[in-house]
Amino acid sequence: MNQDYPPTLPDRRDWTVVIVEGCEECGYVPSNPHDSSARLAAAAAEWPEVLGSEGIRERPEPTVWSPLEYAVHARDMVRLLGARVGAMLADEDPVFEDWDGDVHAAEGRYWEADAAQIIEDIRLATRQTQSVLARVGRSDWERTGRRSDGRRFTVATLSQYLVHDVEHHLQDARLGLRVRVPLLGRPATTGPTDR
Ligand SMILES: [Zn+2]
Repeated sequence: MNQDYPPTLPDRRDWTVVIVEGCEECGYVPSNPHDSSARLAAAAAEWPEVLGSEGIRERPEPTVWSPLEYAVHARDMVRLLGARVGAMLADEDPVFEDWDGDVHAAEGRYWEADAAQIIEDIRLATRQTQSVLARVGRSDWERTGRRSDGRRFTVATLSQYLVHDVEHHLQDARLGLRVRVPLLGRPATTGPTDR
């Protein structure tokens, strides 16, 4: 099958600010790190419904990921950041290798993914990351690690970053389906309100 999609617009926004400021786009307010495991599980539980919908392979715009592509990316983030938390628990201030989601999407041919497989992948990745978070002791939340750009995270802020990431992408996927249902009990973000 030769079904190549154009790349998405590179995402150059600094998403680390959401840890402190929250995110207007998806309604995230800085979360309690101790809730991370439960929130990841709640997000994972929503993907089967999203990926069971019609049109999951269609991009809402040529340069915006399809719901399926967002799901594969979310799986990768749960895997990646869970592993990074594990590294922060095992090592002193580890440095993380560069990771470019757009490159992985292209190389991994996300658009060809099997939805049932991705649902299972997300379930498994979430369980693995939850098991890492379960090992975080009281004094471990402030353990650190650094991204290749020098940005330093703690176990607490990285887990918040991950929670926002998966919740935000779940919303991206729902918006791609034009399904405006509340996400995790919050009102769905809508466009400018009618007067
Ligand atoms: Zn967001």
